[in-house]
Amino acid sequence: MEQFINSNKQVMNNYLFSTNMNIEKLSKSVRNVPDFPIPGIQFKDVTTLFKNPEILKELSDGLYEMYKDKGVTKVVGIESRGFIMGPLLAERLHVGFVPIRKKGKLPAETYEMSYDKEYGKDTIQIHRDALDENDVVVLHDDLLATGGTMIAAVELIKKFCPKKIYVNFLIELEDLKGRAAFDPEIEVESILKYDI
Ligand code: AMP
Repeated sequence: MEQFINSNKQVMNNYLFSTNMNIEKLSKSVRNVPDFPIPGIQFKDVTTLFKNPEILKELSDGLYEMYKDKGVTKVVGIESRGFIMGPLLAERLHVGFVPIRKKGKLPAETYEMSYDKEYGKDTIQIHRDALDENDVVVLHDDLLATGGTMIAAVELIKKFCPKKIYVNFLIELEDLKGRAAFDPEIEVESILKYDI
């Protein structure tokens, strides 16, 4: 049986205010799976968002509204759940999509970064020719927990010295305070905010 989260704390920020997203409806559409993949983790399953065509469109429209006036030139998505809305946003913005992948998956020359996760350790890579200093980048992933994954991704992107880096999540687990790990010049936005 699907279990839906009822307790959620939503703060309307400037980005979200400019969109027509029904935050409450979106929040209730994320499935919470207790003790996955290990005991103690409340896993936020975004597949229940994506399988609903109206919600998928609402997310696509909302993300487009958030970033359409920012001069974005590339959307970078983090494997693997950043590969769902990331390319959709890139297509809406008429810009390219760049994958950040787990170590050993990208075929050409890469930069890489290792980091600690909420559960486990990982290394991510990006192709060395993926971006350049003229790019304005939106870095996208499904969820902000401790921030370890996205901080590593930001460090990878910084190697290209882009003009600007925006960071975007569908979901933020506010109690883990991952947002505090980002430099103040990085604009971090999340659509749905949960206490764990
Ligand atoms: P972190 O690096 O701690 O911010 O973890 C974020 C990454 O781990 C994202 O790629 C998420 O997909 C995944 N993740 C971590 N915690 C959860 C969770 N509670 N529910 C779903 N995904 C999670």
